[in-house]
This record gives sequence, structure tokens and C-alpha cells, in this order.
Amino acid sequence: MSLRFSAIGSITNEASGVPTPSSTKITGIFNENVFTLKTAREFLSDEAYKSLITSIRGGKKIDRSVANQIANGLRAWAEGKGVTHYTHWFQPLTGTTAEKHDSFFTLKGDGTAIEEFDGAALIQQEPDASSFPSGGLRATFEARGYTAWDPSSPAFIIEIGKGKTLCIPTIFVSYTGESLDYKAPLLKALEALNKSAVDVCNYFDKNVTKVTATLGWEQEYFVVDEALVNARPDLVQCGRTVFGASPAKGQQLEDHYFGSIPERVYAFMRDFESESYKLGIPLRTRHNEVAPGQYECAPIFEEVNIAVDHNILLMDVMSRVAKRHKLVVLFHEKPFAGINGSGKHNNWSMATDTGVNLLAPGKTPKTNLMFLTFFVNIIKAVHDHADIMRAAIASAPNDHRLGANEAPPAIISVFVGQYLSKVLSDVEARVSTKFDEQDEAILKLDLHRSIPELMLDNTDRNRTSPFAFTGNKFEFRAVGSSANCAISMTVLNTIMADTLKKFKVDVDALIEKGDKKEIAIMQVIQKYIVESKKVLFEGDGYSDEWHHEAERRGLPNLKTTPVALDAMVSEKAKKLFESNGVYSHTELEARHEIELEKYIKKVQIEARIMGDIALNHIIPSAIKYQNELLKNVNGLKEAGLPESAYSSQLDILKAVSEHIQVIHTKVHQMVEARKIANNIENTRTKAIAYESQVKSAFFDEIRYNVDKLEHLVDDDIWTLPKYREMLFLR
Ligand code: ADP
Ligand code: MG
Repeated sequence: MSLRFSAIGSITNEASGVPTPSSTKITGIFNENVFTLKTAREFLSDEAYKSLITSIRGGKKIDRSVANQIANGLRAWAEGKGVTHYTHWFQPLTGTTAEKHDSFFTLKGDGTAIEEFDGAALIQQEPDASSFPSGGLRATFEARGYTAWDPSSPAFIIEIGKGKTLCIPTIFVSYTGESLDYKAPLLKALEALNKSAVDVCNYFDKNVTKVTATLGWEQEYFVVDEALVNARPDLVQCGRTVFGASPAKGQQLEDHYFGSIPERVYAFMRDFESESYKLGIPLRTRHNEVAPGQYECAPIFEEVNIAVDHNILLMDVMSRVAKRHKLVVLFHEKPFAGINGSGKHNNWSMATDTGVNLLAPGKTPKTNLMFLTFFVNIIKAVHDHADIMRAAIASAPNDHRLGANEAPPAIISVFVGQYLSKVLSDVEARVSTKFDEQDEAILKLDLHRSIPELMLDNTDRNRTSPFAFTGNKFEFRAVGSSANCAISMTVLNTIMADTLKKFKVDVDALIEKGDKKEIAIMQVIQKYIVESKKVLFEGDGYSDEWHHEAERRGLPNLKTTPVALDAMVSEKAKKLFESNGVYSHTELEARHEIELEKYIKKVQIEARIMGDIALNHIIPSAIKYQNELLKNVNGLKEAGLPESAYSSQLDILKAVSEHIQVIHTKVHQMVEARKIANNIENTRTKAIAYESQVKSAFFDEIRYNVDKLEHLVDDDIWTLPKYREMLFLR
């Protein structure tokens, strides 16, 4: 029996054997496995606790003796929970997380065995960095990498089976100081934003001393039975089906979205939610998504740095917990053709230490001016750096989704809703060079009247915009489901930091010239609106008209990753990131190289898998069927029946043979195309070759013929689980 049929046969058994998690009050388990400040208070001396707090608040260094005390406190807490090992937990440029476990156990010089964890081990480690991507940085500098403790993200305990490990969140850098991970630049971008946002806030409120960016992600994913996945080499190796005909019923009835959650998936959700709560991940919502087999979860928003850690941690927890339920979670952006793919909306805002959400319209005309200032600066930032935002979401898997009439297009635009559109055009029309204090006072009141206090309930929804204002936050919707949010958050916070910095320069220049502060602010806001309004779009982002319109406006529409990535290393990007202290130009070039290499490898792996499956599954199944047909035709012929009695069989035979020929020929041509591409020296040229000469030239055509065969060949001899099985059986 083929794997496919044994998998189908086992599903009902699995489903009934799934353990139902016991329901616990969330507050009873929340943060159970996190070294929170409350826990720190309990396990640390006053001195160590205070030092930890200052370092979290102001990024101050912790000295060695205090680090020893903190390490001891951490170990005492962790051992009390049965932990034996610790690891520095970091986010290398592979896109997943990395950990290397060390035990507390050690031998002293005289052979005495003790358990130990000192400050040195807490603060710094040297994992063998040579196997992590560095984009040539290591070759250039011959430097090893080290991980360094990030006290702003709390330590936590991961449970795998019966083993428990203390995880210390760290950044990963080379010895010469170049960052080798996603976290270090993110922290720098957040600091840059803090600085420039505080300066701008101080125009309105002198009490603001800190601005933190906030992030609430929405994670979409698919869930498929594990046995079915195991029978699909493409899902096992690329997380995506490279073949598969559309089932009779897909998502056309639109009956999945917000529908009742299937029981087996529900048990899985409750299970991973409990595990997440223990880790302090504040999950809030769960629901079915549009496609069959697709779901979403979202937490309460947090500071960006923590939210990023929590998202990557959640993805890890989900994959592990799924195994317990004999399920597989797919985070790939487009696991199944013909139905929706998955994204990860990044809801983003900024909050002051005085408790104000800078993207929430204010209650008074004055606070509304502050809101308007930040609001317009974002639009300007996105307008000026749309190319870099596009680059931030570029990846091989996300190319399948962006612009596929189900996800935001590859054109970056901003949606603000009808109320704020009107506000922007009012400001544009009414602020002029003759604009005086009286005009300003009237405009401010008028604007206040037209910005409804509860924007949240008033913003119209536009699901097709890649970057939309949704009441008290912006939502970056084009981010891929498998991406690390740190990439888009680094870009968004950097471009905002940079724009605010320039805004202050512009406003100060006018004040210097003698303008009153609020008039100066209005003038600059007006100028920014005029300069950036071509990035605003309220219509249907999926429509063809928008593609034409965007072209007319001169907005870039880069459909593929290899060229979208160019924006990372433009002169503009280098200046932007360098002047804000986020990336040096060497770091940018290294990252560009790494992203291109990732793209090449992903397309290469998919191409190989296509070849494997075509030659080892599809063609053999089709030949078996051909033989059956042949036997049948010959038998009927021998029995003396006229050709009319077996002409249908002959038609099928002919069709099957033709598809086999095309598949076989194309697979071999694709191998040759890869060989040519592999010989290209320049990484960018090679990536473009992989896109045009391998992927675009062959994938669709091979798939078309394979999917046709799936419709023709006897179901009994088809070895790959079909879409209807993967999407609907659970
Ligand atoms: P939606 O209608 O888009 O689902 P929700 O209010 O449910 O809107 O929020 C979606 C996500 O946005 C959640 O993760 C939520 O925590 C997050 N969010 C809400 N307010 C903010 C904010 N000020 N900053 C960042 N994220 C936020
Ligand atoms: Mg949302």
C-alpha cells in the first residue's frame, strides 16, 4: 500500500487519540517559564535587581560581579523548575532561531562535580559561527562570532519532551562588530526611533522622555495531518506543494473563514496556547482563515523587541506542539496553489512613556496636531522609502503571494480611510505661505472636528492595501507568514526615525526664521503631504486598474525578489541606515548577498524536488496507468471489437503519453538550465537567472502537465496525497 493510502487510513485513528488539554485559567500559567521582573525581585539581591532594571531601561552595561549574581539567581530559579541546561538563544540570518545547549554541570580542577552558571557565561558565548550565513563578512574580517546577552528581553525556559533548557536571549555579532543576526540591527533601529520621536514629541509635550515602538502581529498558518505530509516529499522539504490539482471544492463557498474550528485543530490550538502563555506570549485571538485548513492567531501587542522574540518563539512552539497532535504546521507563504496564502500582518504604532499612543487621534486639538504630525511623517517615510519596505518583505516564498489577487500587491501604497484623506486634503489646501496664526487656530479646530474621536470604529476596512491605517496603528500587511518580523520592523522604525529627524530640522529652520512653532509644524506637514501624496491609495489594490494607475504615478512594482532586493544596497539605503546607526554599508552588502543566496537555494531546492517527484512518483504512476490502458485496449482488440469500443481509452492513452513526454523533457531541460545558472559568478545575476531561466521558464509548465495527469490517472495508483485530502481530512 502506498504511503498515501496508509496515511488516509490512519487519520481517523489519530484524530480520536488526540489528548485534550486540560483547561487552566490563563493568569494561573502566564509567564510561568519566564524570568520576569517580579521573579527577578525574588531571586536577585537589591544590587543585582537594580542593575538589571537600569540596564533594561537605559541599555547600561552590567559589570562582572553583578552579572555573577544575576547568573546565580537565574540558575537558582531555573533549577527550581528542573532545568539542567542553558543556551544562548539567538536569531541568525537563516531565519530560524539557534541554540546550543550547555549543562550547568562542570568539573572543578580537583575533579569535584558541581553545577555552575557564572556571569561570563550569561553575558557572552562563542558558538561556532562558521556555519551561519555571514554574506562574506567572516571571510573579509576573518572574525569569529559571539553572542551577547540582551537584557531587554527576559530569559525563559523551553520544555522539549522531558528536557528543560534555560534560554538567554542574545544578539549575534562578529568580533569586529558587524551584526550577524536580526536582533542587533532591530535594537539599533528602535533606539534611533526613540531619539527622533522624543525630539518631535517635545514640540508638544516636554514630559516625554522615551518613545517605544509597539508591534502586534497576526500569524496565519496551515495545519495538515502529519501522515499526509510525510507522503508529500515537497511539503517535507520545502513546506509547499509543488504539484497538486485543485480539488472540486476549494475556498469558493467561503465557508471556512471564522467558521467553527475543527476539533482536532482546536485541541492543538489550546495546547500551543497554554505552552505560549507559560512563555509569556500574550495570545488573544484564534480563528479560521479564508482557505480550508488555514488559521490565524494574534496576541496583545507588545514592545517591538519582545513581540519579535515572541513571534519567533511561538512559531517554534507551534511546530513542536503540532507533533504531539500528529499534525504539521505550515508557515510557508503559499503552501497550496489556487487558494489563499499566508501572511503576517504587522500592526505597528509608537507609545510615549507618558502613556500616549502616538497614532491614536487625540481628544483635544493640540493632541490632534501631535497625532497628525506622526501620521503624516509615516506617510512621508513610506513614500520616500517604499523601495526599502518592498525589499524588507522580499523572499522566494513571498513572491508566490504578493500580487496574487489574494494578498497585497508588490506595489507599496498607504491606505488612510476617508476621514483622514479629507483631513490631509484640507491641510494641503488651506496651509499656504500666507498662513497666519488665526488661520492656524481655525484649521486646528476644523481638523479636530473632522477626526472622529473613536477612529477605531470609523476607519473603513481595506483588506487590499499593503500598508493601512486601522484606527490607532498602521498595519503592514505584505509581510510573509514565515518571515522574522525583525526585518520589516527594522526598516519601518529606521525610515520613521530618519523622517522625524528631518522633520525636526525642517520645523526648526522655520522657527529660526521667526515662525511660531505650531505654524511651522503645519507648514512642514503641508509640504510633506504634497510631496508624498502619490503613495496614498484608497481603492482596490488587487485590481488591474491600480497596477496601471501605480505605473502612471511612477510607483515601483517589483514582482520578484532578486530585483526587489536591490533597494537594500542603493546609495539612498546606505545613507539611511548608516546615518541612523542601524547598518554599516558592509553589513548591508552582506545581508543583500545572504538574501540573494537564500533565494537561489530555495528555488534550487524546489526545482530539485519537482524533478524528484516528477521522475519518481508522477511518471511511474502514469506509466502504470498507461500499461493498464494498453492491456485493456489490446484485449478488446483481440476480442474483435471495433475501434469505437476503445477509442476513449486510446484518447486517454494519448493524453497521458503526451503529458509524460512534456514532463520528462522539461525536467531535463530544467536541470540543464540549473547547470548554466550555477556557473554564474555574480550572486545577483545568478538569482535573476534562477528566477527567469529556472522558475519562470519551467515551474508552471511542469506543474500544469503533472496536474493534468492527476486528473487522468487512476486514483488507486496515484501516490501523492491530493489537495482534497491535505486540506479537508483531519
Ligand atoms: P484587527 O481588526 O486588525 O484584527 P485588532 O484590534 O484585533 O485589529 O488588532 C490586531 C492586532 O493589532 C493585535 O495583535 C493587536 O494587539 C494589535 N494592536 C492593537 N493596538 C496596537 C498598537 N497600538 N500597536 C501595535 N499593535 C497594536
Ligand atoms: Mg488586522
